Amino acid sequence: MIPRTLPTWQLKSWQDELSQLIQSPEDLFARLNLDPQHLAAAQRAAQLFPLRVTDSFVRRMQPGNLDDPLLRQVLPLGCEFDEAIGYSNDPLGEAQTNPVPGIVHKYHGRVLLIAATHCAIHCRYCFRRHFPYAQNHLSREQWAASLDYVRCDTSISEVILSGGDPLAQGDKQLAWLIEQLEAIPHLQRLRIHSRLPVVLPSRITPELVSLLSHSRLQPVLVIHCNHPQEVDEEVLAALQELKHAGLTLLNQCVLLRGVNDELATLVALSESLFRAQVLPYYVHLLDKVQGAAHFAVTEDRARELHQGMLAKLPGYLVPRFVKEISQEASKTPL
Ligand SMILES: *Cc1c(COP(=O)(O)O)cnc(C)c1O
Ligand code: SF4
Repeated sequence: MIPRTLPTWQLKSWQDELSQLIQSPEDLFARLNLDPQHLAAAQRAAQLFPLRVTDSFVRRMQPGNLDDPLLRQVLPLGCEFDEAIGYSNDPLGEAQTNPVPGIVHKYHGRVLLIAATHCAIHCRYCFRRHFPYAQNHLSREQWAASLDYVRCDTSISEVILSGGDPLAQGDKQLAWLIEQLEAIPHLQRLRIHSRLPVVLPSRITPELVSLLSHSRLQPVLVIHCNHPQEVDEEVLAALQELKHAGLTLLNQCVLLRGVNDELATLVALSESLFRAQVLPYYVHLLDKVQGAAHFAVTEDRARELHQGMLAKLPGYLVPRFVKEISQEASKTPL
């Protein structure tokens, strides 16, 4: 591996950063100098789904700006209490496709493994904000049951580590899990869905890069980045390192009102990602989860944005616009 000099952001370990998340609305308001008139509502909404964000992500926000696109993704708002028609607590029907705790098997050939039950950041629009993580917190026996499930179904060629955030766990646990998966002969690919390379880039340590790049399984990392302002120098460096180690890097984002529902933003996002060696993969329409209706963008607007991207970008920088319909055999293109 190419040695790199330790950048300043690596002086604090990622574990330290993860244990020092900003979790109180007061702290966030003070940190960013936000208008205190919105604090009480933020405190109430944080009881629905706790506030949680890394210091690294907050550093990329503009102080004093309640409309900052990064802040909007994590700031609890009073309107989360509004009951919206057609929104539910389990919009994807995952409760029915959860054959054993920790496994979601919806699509042919690939299975999603809930490899961690926590995240470094709580995205207000997250479709898992009501997911019964407590029942999916795996003991060693349950891990064994999940792995058995994968071992017994030879149609599965790809395991997707998801969560929560699978990279929120330490390298030891991750190494153990990867070793277990490598021992299952019909598996070919290991996919990781993680927001950590973006919200906690110090997580991309040389040890982690080495772990992922030395696996028998072909590694694919799907990051989650919604706005070009999320890609700062640290994120860029972390992603380039992963790419140099041979990983396939893709991005998925969610189309969010007031965050990335402008053509110029989406074009800039694709370009920033490509600079970081990441190809855009999916733009998801918002899953209709209770408490997130204020982020919704209409399908017509989404189509218009997709057309706009096609007109402005090379084809490989235009992501697929998809929505999730429960019971369908794949994500559904718009
Ligand atoms: C989105 C998703 C996948 C992955 O789908 P791809 O189209 O392969 O990216 C797999 N399993 C579940 C349950 C999913 O929601
Ligand atoms: S699972 Fe992903 S989208 Fe949901 S809160 Fe965690 S990081 Fe955000």
